[in-house]
Amino acid sequence: MKCAFCGLDYEQEQATVACQGCGLFGGCHLVKCPRCGYEQPKEPPLLQWWRQWRARRLDASTSSKG
Ligand SMILES: [Zn+2]
Repeated sequence: MKCAFCGLDYEQEQATVACQGCGLFGGCHLVKCPRCGYEQPKEPPLLQWWRQWRARRLDASTSSKG
C-alpha cells in the first residue's frame, strides 16, 4: 500500500512489524509507514488485489518493450 504522507509504497506486512506498540489484540486496525511512521487505515482486500493486478500488468508491459 502507499503512504498518504510520504508516498512510500510498502507491504502491509512491513507495516505490521513496525507497529509493535499496540499489538495487544493482534495489532490495531491501522498500518504504520516504515519510513515516516504515519498511520493510516488498511487497504481493503479488493483494493490490494487490484493494485497487485495493476502492478503485474505494468510489469508485463514494460518487460515486453525490452
Ligand atoms: Zn510514510
